[in-house]
Amino acid sequence: MFAFTSIKEYHSFLASTPNGCTVAVNHYLSKIEENKHLNAFLEVFETEALQRAEQLDADRLAGKPLGKLNGVIVALKDVICIKGHKVGAASKILEGFTSIYNATATEKLLAEGAIIIGRNNCDEFAMGSSNENSAYGTVKNALDNTLVSGGSSGGSAVSVQADLCMASLGSDTGGSVRQPADFCGVIGFKPSYGRISRYGLIAYASSFDQIGIFSKNIEDTALVLEVISGADDFDSTISTKPVPEYSKQIDSTGKKYRFAYFKEVLEHEGLDKEIAAQANAHIEALKADGHTVEPVDFKMLPYVVPTYYVLTTAEASSNLSRFDGVKFGYRANLSKDDDLTALYKKSRSEGFGKEVQRRILLGTFVLSSGYFDAYFTKAQQVRRLLCDTTNDIFKEYDAIISPTVPTTAFKIGEKSDDPIAMYLADIFTVFANLVGIPAVSIPLFKHSNGMPFGLQLMSSHYEETTLLQISSMMMGYK
Ligand code: GLN
Repeated sequence: MFAFTSIKEYHSFLASTPNGCTVAVNHYLSKIEENKHLNAFLEVFETEALQRAEQLDADRLAGKPLGKLNGVIVALKDVICIKGHKVGAASKILEGFTSIYNATATEKLLAEGAIIIGRNNCDEFAMGSSNENSAYGTVKNALDNTLVSGGSSGGSAVSVQADLCMASLGSDTGGSVRQPADFCGVIGFKPSYGRISRYGLIAYASSFDQIGIFSKNIEDTALVLEVISGADDFDSTISTKPVPEYSKQIDSTGKKYRFAYFKEVLEHEGLDKEIAAQANAHIEALKADGHTVEPVDFKMLPYVVPTYYVLTTAEASSNLSRFDGVKFGYRANLSKDDDLTALYKKSRSEGFGKEVQRRILLGTFVLSSGYFDAYFTKAQQVRRLLCDTTNDIFKEYDAIISPTVPTTAFKIGEKSDDPIAMYLADIFTVFANLVGIPAVSIPLFKHSNGMPFGLQLMSSHYEETTLLQISSMMMGYK
């Protein structure tokens, strides 16, 4: 029976198995079928994945050069374009839309020999923390089907959790990779803003969005990151900094680090007591190992969620204006008395789900002339202050540690009528997106309720190598 542990081991399996890619694809296709009830996939590319596997097997036998991700089976969140395939941000408004080009990340995966097995379910337009906002139904947590997977990249997290692929890509605007990774017990990595091209990523909030990686081990995260990062003429916000060979630099070789943690986070009233206790115990273990771990003040904690929701909804209201039934998207059936305004209204009301509509309204409000300064400008000022504070912290510390989410995975339906409670689930993750730094959730802990939870690590801009090294070291604490 095929079993996956890491890309490295898979590659040695391929070296001794002539039809190895085909064996692997068949294995995952049957796993996906067995786990259909989890609703992690919106579409599975059976025929195409098998054909590609056969081609890759043949190329390997013919001695052709092998890509870094040769035969690696990945799944992509339904916001990342794959040429010739449907893409819809799990929204009814984009039902039936086919992508005419590849996202840069997709292109780079394919160039290194990856096999894309399907597209993952997610919250509509990546807005949500539980995957309950998808037009195609909730994704279930594989460990307990009554619990949420987290969101918005729930399908991508569950695909790795339930062994439905080797690694997957999601997007992280405020925690959408780290939070479901925490709920599912896998690694979720969000790089610095500008590390991975956003070309071909359906935008939610452009100054926050980043593609992120789900995997089972840090070596694989590093390898996928190295493949999909780097300059791109199609994204004006991308960094031209050279991409290090992350996968060769994850060994920290016994280095002692300087960690900061926010007192206000560990003492937060919404933080589950057991999560706080395990995070504190982890801090003590780090100290005992000779690392420095110190508290720093974070008086702005109460402002991060409001600032995030003012700015992201403002950007979303602008980004989503193109889905109007004319330029893009679903068009409502009109009666003969309906005018152009009615066309927009009906199409957008029928095409967008409730949460997306709420955010478009909120974003339009904070951008409206009477309220612009009070909300949008104010929030931009808070964002600036957060950036300054962050720069000061990283003058003295290598990384900030915190729990990823205040609770473990909650029940499906538990928070769906309470948007504020749902938004508060993002309290520890949105900070990294507000300031653009890399962050990861690593699955170190288990709660007495049986569910896993993670530790979040954040490092300075473009210090992905440090983050990977620390993560790799800490995975050893498991
Ligand atoms: N839960 C957050 C939100 O709903 C984060 C979403 C994301 O990162 N895409 O905005």
